[in-house]
Amino acid sequence: MSNKTMKTIQAALRVSRKVYLTDHYLRVYLTGDDVYKFENTTIGVNNKILIPPLGATEVHFPEFDYETMQWKPQPEEIRSIVRTYTHRGIDLASNEIWIDFVAHGDEGPASAWAIRAQVGDPLGVLMKDGKLELYAQADHYLLVGDATAIPVLGAILEDLPATARGTCIIEVSGVVDEQHLRTKAAIDFIWLYNLHPQDGSTLAEHVRRLTLPAENRFAYVAAEFNSVKDIRAYLRKDKGWAREELYAYSYWKSGVAEDKSVADRHAESDKS
Ligand SMILES: Cc1cc2nc3c(=O)[nH]c(=O)nc-3n(C[C@H](O)[C@H](O)[C@H](O)COP(=O)(O)OP(=O)(O)OC[C@H]3O[C@@H](n4cnc5c(N)ncnc54)[C@H](O)[C@@H]3O)c2cc1C
Repeated sequence: MSNKTMKTIQAALRVSRKVYLTDHYLRVYLTGDDVYKFENTTIGVNNKILIPPLGATEVHFPEFDYETMQWKPQPEEIRSIVRTYTHRGIDLASNEIWIDFVAHGDEGPASAWAIRAQVGDPLGVLMKDGKLELYAQADHYLLVGDATAIPVLGAILEDLPATARGTCIIEVSGVVDEQHLRTKAAIDFIWLYNLHPQDGSTLAEHVRRLTLPAENRFAYVAAEFNSVKDIRAYLRKDKGWAREELYAYSYWKSGVAEDKSVADRHAESDKS
């Protein structure tokens, strides 16, 4: 992944429409005067969404204090909840960007926001501007994720050349949540079902059953903390994959809100 210092886009947007892609997957389209700022962004790169307090009519972005190198605190009545999502698409003609949400219930503010989102609701979005390398070039790909990874894996699959081959394993709640993911590459798709991803997953077990490519390979793994940790250990320690042959990052940690598990998830990814 590129570490280039890039400008951060700050956009105050509003819901323009909302579509259920599957029973538990929502695409939320966002519009506003700031959409043009995303013109040169990379689809599949993560963003930060700022969910304003219930009933708020606009998003109040926090200010960054360059002296203390920290965000300035905001009063609770205007403070947004911040979550990490994926920039899934842009259409400058319709002046929209879109983000796909796992509708995992209303215990999480982001999932709850998406489920009840109405046309006109405000949402703040922050993300890195410019073109970033989402994945490394290789002949063989291993793409592994749970439902939260469908946006990034979908973006990678759309971008892969016809010469690429590989396997894509995705865990969703059931057959109703399988999505048709477009790709020119020769990819074997394996869909796994898990109604209760908070209670554990069989992703790692299925990765262990695969015959893995011996060389010219790259794996992208994004899922719940324990699956990522397990798959990383298997590929790196048991199978001897080199650090640069793998990008693995946990997208959430069961039982912990996303903003409270950042330190654990970073620490785990540093082990790569
Ligand atoms: C780089 C990156 C990109 C991401 N992109 C996307 C994306 O495009 N779409 C997407 O849907 N998610 C994405 N995620 C995951 C998302 O940030 C988390 O699922 C987040 O916890 C959702 O916030 P929340 O407010 O709904 O729940 P939180 O308040 O964070 O968590 C509340 C509870 O819900 C549980 N929970 C969280 N997520 C799930 C889930 N998926 N299934 C079941 N239980 C869950 C938690 O364990 C916790 O117990 C991404 C994460 C990262 C790090």
